[in-house]
Amino acid sequence: MGRLLSCPQCSHEKVLRSRPLSASERMAALFLLAPFSCQHCSCRFMASRIGLDAPRHPVDRREHLRIPVRLYLSFSGGKVRGEGTVLDLSMGGCIIKSETQVHVDDIFYLEIATGQQDRPIEVAAMVRSISSRGIAFKFLRAAQDNKRLLAFVQAQTADHLQKSAAAPEVPVKS
Ligand SMILES: [Zn+2]
Repeated sequence: MGRLLSCPQCSHEKVLRSRPLSASERMAALFLLAPFSCQHCSCRFMASRIGLDAPRHPVDRREHLRIPVRLYLSFSGGKVRGEGTVLDLSMGGCIIKSETQVHVDDIFYLEIATGQQDRPIEVAAMVRSISSRGIAFKFLRAAQDNKRLLAFVQAQTADHLQKSAAAPEVPVKS
């Protein structure tokens, strides 16, 4: 069995590997250092990946593909129909702004517009939380199955990383 990490702040072992986000974190990847985030106290720290028990510290998918966007969406479920703006999108879900009244655990069918000529991306989602930031949806189907969503998120991520750091991305093998 490999080495297990624990959080330097709260010593919790629920630690997920993060994707390098800054130029210095990408540089550190050359020395087999990777960023990790604690799921308990949400602190972020760097640690060596050598000999690590990888399955116990999986990559945090929700974090690594979260990207700011501004996309029109419409949604429907039961008798409710609404529309709004997607502010933040990842393979795991999205955050939207909408005037429509929804409740936690409501399930909707989302149609996210990505451009003028493309059909909207369709995905089923559940309301996870409602806050001043907006309505957080969790996608129901494993988002990896949704090829159009995956392609769109990957394209946006590449774009976003290019804008946020001039340094080329260092591929990290798991
Ligand atoms: Zn912690």
